[in-house]
Amino acid sequence: MTKFSDLSLAAPLVEAIEATGYTTPTPIQSQAIPLVLQGRDLLGIAQTGTGKTAAFALPILDRLSRAPGPLPRMSTRVLVLAPTRELAGQIAQSFKTYGQFLKLSVGTVFGGVTINRHIKQMQRGTDVLVATPGRLLDLIDRKAMNLDNVEVLVLDEADQMLDLGFIHALRRIVPLLPRRRQTLFFSATMPPAIAQLAAQFLNDPAKVSVAPPSTTAERVLQQAYFVTAGEKQDLLHHVLRTEEIDRVLVFTRTKHGADRVVKKLEASGFKSAAIHGNKSQPQREKALAAFKSGYNKVLVATDIAARGVDVPGVSHVINFEIPNVAEQYVHRIGRTARAGADGKSISFVAGDERPYMRDIEKLTRQKPVLLDLPEGMTVQRAPSEVPPAGKNGAGKPAGAKPGNRPRRVRSKGRPGGANHGQGAHGGRRQSGGAA
Ligand code: AMP
Repeated sequence: MTKFSDLSLAAPLVEAIEATGYTTPTPIQSQAIPLVLQGRDLLGIAQTGTGKTAAFALPILDRLSRAPGPLPRMSTRVLVLAPTRELAGQIAQSFKTYGQFLKLSVGTVFGGVTINRHIKQMQRGTDVLVATPGRLLDLIDRKAMNLDNVEVLVLDEADQMLDLGFIHALRRIVPLLPRRRQTLFFSATMPPAIAQLAAQFLNDPAKVSVAPPSTTAERVLQQAYFVTAGEKQDLLHHVLRTEEIDRVLVFTRTKHGADRVVKKLEASGFKSAAIHGNKSQPQREKALAAFKSGYNKVLVATDIAARGVDVPGVSHVINFEIPNVAEQYVHRIGRTARAGADGKSISFVAGDERPYMRDIEKLTRQKPVLLDLPEGMTVQRAPSEVPPAGKNGAGKPAGAKPGNRPRRVRSKGRPGGANHGQGAHGGRRQSGGAA
């Protein structure tokens, strides 16, 4: 097995790796680092959680440490493009961590915050700039920066860039880059559109793949419930009460869906927060910090917002709604079982989501274990009740607030009322559908 000391990285980097607590390189690291150190272009097929950030950051830092130079005014020596601000922030943090014993400047630019800060930052220039494509082009269009000094370009999570509609931005960026450069291109999946994009950026790349395209992280135990949309919230509460959870990421398809789930979780005493595109940067940071610290065990997220969430110790991923793009499922469950830890994903599959699940099974060539719905689960069960005792959720729910008491609503198919007045049959749908 390769050791970090076999990779001939500069001493300050080895020191930083030790300080970080890593003992052995992950497969993508032991394969990619020597190739990048040789100066090769690289096409890396790796899911998040494989250690791919260090796989590119370490050899890049090695290069910078061996050829130190002045900061290029209004430009950068290394440009890393990432699809979301969260991911950009985390990549920048990784560069800072691994480069802690080097004197380097690492900058980040992304949308959603005032551009003046970025304009000022770019006046001095950076060694490493991590950017989302939109804000980068904004700065270039304002003549606040240029890409003339880029020696190394990294495109991270290219499939997400495409999904998020960054293709035009990327096409505009290519001709602005020096022809002579090293390019590292990472994607979790390699559909034809990504291969095309890669061909535009790369020159005779070495290929490294740590998981065949579109297979799911092997360590993730995948489970599923077939459940009606209206029962999903109850099922979520049940799972939160009965599973041994360190941290759980709950995925919804829409922003409103995420907010709805959080509102009901909070009403039932589960500390939780949502992150999605409608949240301000401070709100996102606060939610992430609470999740990281363990104050909130539950983070409800949309696919896009969760892209950059790199929180160790996510024990569970819950697919509250099933993604209609099968690759998203691969991304979602890759959020757990990161770097050696085991993880579990539980999918709540409503009737109209079965076809999505079939697509996912085709793509991953894996079938989640189907679980029986908890016995006695009924929609009118009080939210804070301990796992269902009786069919109608009989007995006073522990800690239930007066306002949360089950209300009677018209319900055709089932006896009794519905949780928060929303029955599976009589009430309106709790989830699903675009908002
Ligand atoms: P990534 O795939 O880059 O998002 O990394 C996933 C997680 O693995 C991050 O939390 C890293 O800090 C961690 N990690 C990266 N490399 C190693 C390693 N060699 N040993 C242990 N953990 C690592």
